[in-house]
Amino acid sequence: MIEQIPVQEDNIVAFRLSGKLSHADYQAFLPRLEELIKEQGRISVLLELVDFHGWDLGAAWDDFRLGVEHADDFERIAIVGEGGLQKWMALMAKPFTSAEVRFFEAEQLGDAWDWLREPRQQAAAATAPAAPYQSILVGVDFSAHAERAVQRAVELAGHYGGRVHLVHAVENYIYYDESYDPVIPLELDMDLELVAAAKERMRLLIDRLGVGKLDYEVLLGSPKGVILSQAEALRTDLIVVGRHGHRGIARLLGSTANAINNRARCDVLTVRLDATA
Ligand code: AMP
Repeated sequence: MIEQIPVQEDNIVAFRLSGKLSHADYQAFLPRLEELIKEQGRISVLLELVDFHGWDLGAAWDDFRLGVEHADDFERIAIVGEGGLQKWMALMAKPFTSAEVRFFEAEQLGDAWDWLREPRQQAAAATAPAAPYQSILVGVDFSAHAERAVQRAVELAGHYGGRVHLVHAVENYIYYDESYDPVIPLELDMDLELVAAAKERMRLLIDRLGVGKLDYEVLLGSPKGVILSQAEALRTDLIVVGRHGHRGIARLLGSTANAINNRARCDVLTVRLDATA
């Protein structure tokens, strides 16, 4: 049996296939599919196989004809099923169509939908102008590199009309002890003192750079953890960090910059102090 699944997108159609498909099933299904192709041009198809047992001979012929006659009318075909034999049957369809065909296990249904939507999203992203940066987050460790990062962020915010937030992570504030689970604070007052001192340094830095009034936070934790967490909280669209920090100028990208580059979900700018740094 072939049932159509209602879909919101105008270039994707979805069907649920169950049992053993017969010629009669195709007789009901083909005109509907051809109508959709006529209405919408090139389409992508999701086929959900539920307790599916393949085709009888008549239906196999219908399926072959469909593939040949509409070889160029399909963009992507996602087949979602239980693997094994179903996967094999699904991939049999490949030679008859110019569409990309992929098999997804039943629990990957969401991935199948994302894959079908991808070409449209990519096309839309390629033609739409990039949104201006609205929220720029700078990781500040009070190194010269980070100062340059603040200056760059302020320039960019001026250009895009965005807002700059600075964040400093106070590291090593906790005492790790294997006999306690998992960590115990060393001295609460010491944390507070470190935070207060860093806030004061932040104020002095902003004054000295003459960049106007900027928002800033000082938080306890690892630099990468704190920066990535603040980026999510502030809906940051650009993170700016120095290429290096206090740990000096290694030849490679510093560890914080590297980790953020790998893990951030927004753009990341790593700023060099000068051409050789
Ligand atoms: P690193 O990877 O440690 O060499 O540092 C590279 C950049 O990461 C620095 O220039 C800062 O922009 C940022 N960063 C490093 N440590 C911290 C920290 N404790 N708090 C905020 N940002 C930091």
